[in-house]
Amino acid sequence: MTFPQRLIDGYNAFADGRLQKEQDRYRKLSEQGQAPQIMVIGCCDSRVSPEVVFDAGPGELFVVRNVANLIPPYSPDGAYHGVSAALEFGVAALKVKHIVVLGHAQCGSVRAFAEDAEPLSPGDFIGKWMTLMAPAAEKVGPRGAFAPADYLSRLEQANIVNSLDNLVTFPQLRKRIERGQVVLHGAFFGVASGDLSVLDRASGKFEPIKRAN
Ligand SMILES: [Zn+2]
Repeated sequence: MTFPQRLIDGYNAFADGRLQKEQDRYRKLSEQGQAPQIMVIGCCDSRVSPEVVFDAGPGELFVVRNVANLIPPYSPDGAYHGVSAALEFGVAALKVKHIVVLGHAQCGSVRAFAEDAEPLSPGDFIGKWMTLMAPAAEKVGPRGAFAPADYLSRLEQANIVNSLDNLVTFPQLRKRIERGQVVLHGAFFGVASGDLSVLDRASGKFEPIKRAN
């Protein structure tokens, strides 16, 4: 069998452990369907799994992950839009009450953008995708004005704000935000420390969440 042994072992651990505890919940969800109230838009990075960071069980989070937790602006142009399709489903069908854009420290994609990395392929899907980060870079200002690590974390956080700005370009979502039916949030996960900060829209700063223990 070529299916990775790591996944077989992991599945067995899940079936013996968590599934036992959550079997009823899975059954209920299969009958009633999912009704998560929170949508999370995060990065593909393997260190920043929203279900792990937020300790979420089945049916609790509607998650979309892509390179650098980006959201393209609303553009009904007939092209394929994976993020916009997920957003439409989350907003119009699931009627989520919260949308969280979850960025993180040491984001390789943000670094690649900042360092003008060479395209990974002639098609350069990432290069095109990462142009969505340009408005965030513009807001941060010239790279030379900051120490390298400081610049990257500023860009990582500005990128979250940029994604939030792009969310409100979707008319249906904007309407729901204006009616108070959906609230947008920005969050930043520090990979090394495990710290979580949340964007305070009034100050524009990411404030650390105080841990209960
Ligand atoms: Zn990332």
